[in-house]
Amino acid sequence: MKAEIAAYVAGPAEAWAAQIERERRVPIELWEDLRARGYLSLAAPVTYGGMGIPFTRYLELVELFSMSHASIRMIVHVVNGTWRAMDRFASEEQRRTFVVPSIRGELKIAFTLTEPTAGSGADLRCSVTREGDTYYLSGEKHLITFGTICDYWLLFARLAGTRGADGTVALLVARNSPGATVIAMDESMGVRGTDHARLSFDRAAVPVANRLGDEGQGLEIALGGFLTPSRISVAMSCVGLARRAHELAISYAGKRETFGKTLAQRQAIRFMIAENATDIEAARQLVLHAARRWEAGDAEAAMLSSMSKLQAVDMLARVTDKALQIHGGIGFWQPNAIERVYRDARAQRFEEGTNEIQKTVIARELLGRANA
Ligand SMILES: Cc1cc2nc3c(=O)[nH]c(=O)nc-3n(C[C@H](O)[C@H](O)[C@H](O)COP(=O)(O)OP(=O)(O)OC[C@H]3O[C@@H](n4cnc5c(N)ncnc54)[C@H](O)[C@@H]3O)c2cc1C
Repeated sequence: MKAEIAAYVAGPAEAWAAQIERERRVPIELWEDLRARGYLSLAAPVTYGGMGIPFTRYLELVELFSMSHASIRMIVHVVNGTWRAMDRFASEEQRRTFVVPSIRGELKIAFTLTEPTAGSGADLRCSVTREGDTYYLSGEKHLITFGTICDYWLLFARLAGTRGADGTVALLVARNSPGATVIAMDESMGVRGTDHARLSFDRAAVPVANRLGDEGQGLEIALGGFLTPSRISVAMSCVGLARRAHELAISYAGKRETFGKTLAQRQAIRFMIAENATDIEAARQLVLHAARRWEAGDAEAAMLSSMSKLQAVDMLARVTDKALQIHGGIGFWQPNAIERVYRDARAQRFEEGTNEIQKTVIARELLGRANA
């Protein structure tokens, strides 16, 4: 599969990437291409129609996909991961209705947590009131990936009047619900083509049967067990994107001549290449270590996932900066591939928690242990 995906990334995915950058949108045919090749169901269990690839081996594939356009990586990462958030809390019927169809690529589900007027956590403000078998949802969300094209938002809200994690709920809200307004957020710096949405809800009706888990478990579903593998997968995405930048820099350094020698012959450039290779390998090994600990059920896995994401994101910033520098001024211009990679890299610092949040998680764990 690694050989197959490496060939896909170097071949068809490059053609998709050029189309996405040109048209500034992800063609729906790309979703179908990825689905038909089985790339949306790599990590899910065989019993759900997935390929059941073990997590650490799946990450080797994530590294390859991440060398491609960020919108392709986004689809693969999200669809191969969202089922995990739902599955632990889904009833048998919800598994049949939502989890399995999402793995098969028949349903698109958008993870919907972030709000314009609140941090992404216990202070969320979107709220529901319950009347019989129906919740009425009001409030706002924004920056929601696939938020305009999805079939359902996996949306986190709270029972009106509750505070903190108490009273939070996870709901599958139909995209066409009356009372829901969707505004596209098209002009992003990177990850071009992927749709993002700003959403507002005015007493949108959601069946209580579409709630995952219990009332009070919303944040646990959003930030609980699912987040650890997802953070590790984002960390590996940083490794893959850095590897792409590194390979572009090596290739350019071998060709570009200044003052009678190629850049690759200059010690200053060779040092940058050596530093980048070392940085990437160090991050890759920490990511794989975190993944193995998660697979083994180690209690440290959550902290390690934050460490791996923090390390990998900072590594990606260093590597893409040096790789762009090696390209000289022309690297700052489109359609040079390093220009896109540099822009796409910046988005990774927000996905699955910012650096500040990763540090908060790591420090809380360490200090909690020290003071226990
Ligand atoms: C490309 C992209 C795709 C996204 N897709 C999705 C999606 O599909 N679904 C979704 O729900 N969200 C999505 N997001 C939103 C993303 O998860 C958030 O942007 C991220 O979690 C940060 O939250 P925020 O933007 O509300 O920043 P804020 O919470 O407003 O924080 C602003 C800054 O302050 C720092 N900060 C905040 N609180 C603290 C604190 N207590 N201590 C120290 N520093 C702090 C943050 O680290 C950040 O640097 C996406 C974002 C991007 C860029």
